[in-house]
Amino acid sequence: MVSAFENAKKQIDNVVTLLRSDYPDKKAFQKAIASLKQPKKLLKKRLNVKLDSGKTKSFVAFRSQHNDARGPYKGGIRFHPEVSEDEVKALSVWMTIKNAVVGVPYGGGKGGVIVDPKALSKTELERLSKKYSEFIAPFIGPWIDVPAPDVNTNSQIMAWMLEAYEAKVGHHAPATYTGKPIELGGSLGRTEATGQGGVFVLQAYSKVKRLNPRRTKIAVQGFGNAGFWFSFLAACAGYEIVAVSDSSGGVYFPRGYTSKRLQKLAEDKRSLGSLKKVSTSDKKLKFITNEELLSLDVDVLVPAALENAIVKDNASKVRARAIVELANGPTTPEAEEILLKKKVDVVPDVLCNAGGVTVSYFEWVQNLHGYRWTKSKVNEELKSVMVQAFDEVYEEKRNKKISYRQAAYVLAVRRVVDAMLLRGEL
Ligand code: NAD
Repeated sequence: MVSAFENAKKQIDNVVTLLRSDYPDKKAFQKAIASLKQPKKLLKKRLNVKLDSGKTKSFVAFRSQHNDARGPYKGGIRFHPEVSEDEVKALSVWMTIKNAVVGVPYGGGKGGVIVDPKALSKTELERLSKKYSEFIAPFIGPWIDVPAPDVNTNSQIMAWMLEAYEAKVGHHAPATYTGKPIELGGSLGRTEATGQGGVFVLQAYSKVKRLNPRRTKIAVQGFGNAGFWFSFLAACAGYEIVAVSDSSGGVYFPRGYTSKRLQKLAEDKRSLGSLKKVSTSDKKLKFITNEELLSLDVDVLVPAALENAIVKDNASKVRARAIVELANGPTTPEAEEILLKKKVDVVPDVLCNAGGVTVSYFEWVQNLHGYRWTKSKVNEELKSVMVQAFDEVYEEKRNKKISYRQAAYVLAVRRVVDAMLLRGEL
């Protein structure tokens, strides 16, 4: 079993030797690195939730507050049957790194509940969301820890969580949660921000690699918020999206999907695998498994589902020339070693999917000021943050002749360690 937290720690270790010589106080540097390999605080509780049947069911819930040297903890809340302490801790490390890569003034945190939300009614989901928010309420706030949505949580869930938090503290505090509905202070452009940010990174990568979007075939694993918006906006930008998949399976269309067709697939609300059972007018459409999607002959592979999708056993089958990681932690360190030997570029999660937290940051800024930005301002600012972050990572990669991930970690770990040293925490 691959431990996401062990992988996150390995990724930090992979840049320690590259950074050590920059720090005259070796002891303080080592202390900073050691503290980056553990969350500062881990909250864990069994939440008892009343079901519609009148019975009570308990769910294990977590919040990992990893590091807050650069600003309040920031990170999403995941509802999934496979949530674990190990996963939440790893995701909180990646949030610290990600926020530092794009330079938003946050630390890293992450939350999760072990639950299959599809098995709950809407009212049960509301009660669970509010219980979770009451549990973390004493430990969060606009200047302490700012949660957001992640896998299987959305703006409605943020609205319930905000309501429970405000009921506890007795005043409005919209800047406590991001990813809220627009009506409750959410930001325009937040829903599509992760996909949009990924497309900005893809465009910056295409520029340095001289890729022509119209001749760049892309396969996307995961067709949820991140995967759908990425596919749709990349198709709008002229890229050829040839395959998409969800947990039930995938569809392959060698000539590429138009943005309209992708939107129709998403609006259908059926799982992609179940489309097999309905008649389709797309005669050239082929049904594929998730494993087959990973080994398609494409230019760019975009894992946008969950962690550990590309592992030691399937990495050698990857035929793409680049991986743009939209999910968190989709490639294990062992798999990345194999890919790098095959000269596959792995553009890391901590850069590619940072669009979501960047627009979350814009939402927080708007809430703190009681102000509202237009969608074009949001996208313009997002583009500038993502392109600058890509350029900085690319420059570091070229100067030091290291991988994209190492370059992103060098930048990020340096920013976090510097903040810790300035505070004199060590
Ligand atoms: P989501 O719940 O909206 O969608 C997840 C998608 O992945 C669904 O289509 C699901 O069917 C699919 N999936 C699950 N297991 C799969 C499997 N084994 N094979 C193929 N597909 C599978 O979640 P999301 O918000 O899109 O998040 C996806 C990833 O992106 C996660 O790693 C998340 O942490 C990361 N991410 C999301 C955001 C965001 O703003 N939504 C921001 C940063 C990172």
